Amino acid sequence: MRALIAGNWKMHGLAASRCEVAALADKMKASAPADCDVLICPPATLVAAFAKDFSGAAIQFGGQDCHAVPSGAHTGDISAEMFADAGAAFVIVGHSERRADHGESDAEVRLKAEAVLRAGLTPIICVGESEAERKAGTALDVVGAQLERSLPETSADFVIAYEPVWAIGTGLTPTLADIAEMHGFIRSNTRKDVRILYGGSVKPGNATEILAIDNVNGALVGGASLKADDFYPIVMAGGKQ
Ligand code: PEP
Repeated sequence: MRALIAGNWKMHGLAASRCEVAALADKMKASAPADCDVLICPPATLVAAFAKDFSGAAIQFGGQDCHAVPSGAHTGDISAEMFADAGAAFVIVGHSERRADHGESDAEVRLKAEAVLRAGLTPIICVGESEAERKAGTALDVVGAQLERSLPETSADFVIAYEPVWAIGTGLTPTLADIAEMHGFIRSNTRKDVRILYGGSVKPGNATEILAIDNVNGALVGGASLKADDFYPIVMAGGKQ
């Protein structure tokens, strides 16, 4: 299966951040894994410009969230069709920051994932347990319930990102055994051809060992995707699965 190394820039990046994409594109031109897809999800304001400027590069662009309907009276929202029109290939849905900051439920996440598919793009559907749930030994149950309620019923392509909430932006990661257990569990609950990404404090220093785990088919990377110097070694590690 081709790996997917996806960068989530969150609410970071201005037009000048183009230089980081250009630096990554240059590095990838010199050497890049043939069996790895590379994606950057910048703020929505930058998707169209990046998709146009880097149309010749082996980097795809995506959104970080979308509304479930194609258009309408929803001030400030962006639809999956608008991301498609801007040149996006993927949209992240159900990121834990969306679930926490905007109270998004599993049912809404599923509607958003279906919207992304409707627009002809690929959803990256995020799931993951909180620190308290991990400590209580309920991580598998929590993620199992999220999968049951948030995954679209489809034979189309979608991606699952397992992101333990306590590992996002903290520098903490689960043990390799815990990642292997969770990814094996997710695999047993979904199709064989669905890519399952790990996300949560992936860095150049730990990417190779995480990406070598069975059923880890790529990474969703926050902080370390902002600088080409950090993201490029993770992209290279994606080719070594
Ligand atoms: C994320 O935002 O999805 C993420 C995994 O962040 P970080 O890599 O910074 O932990």
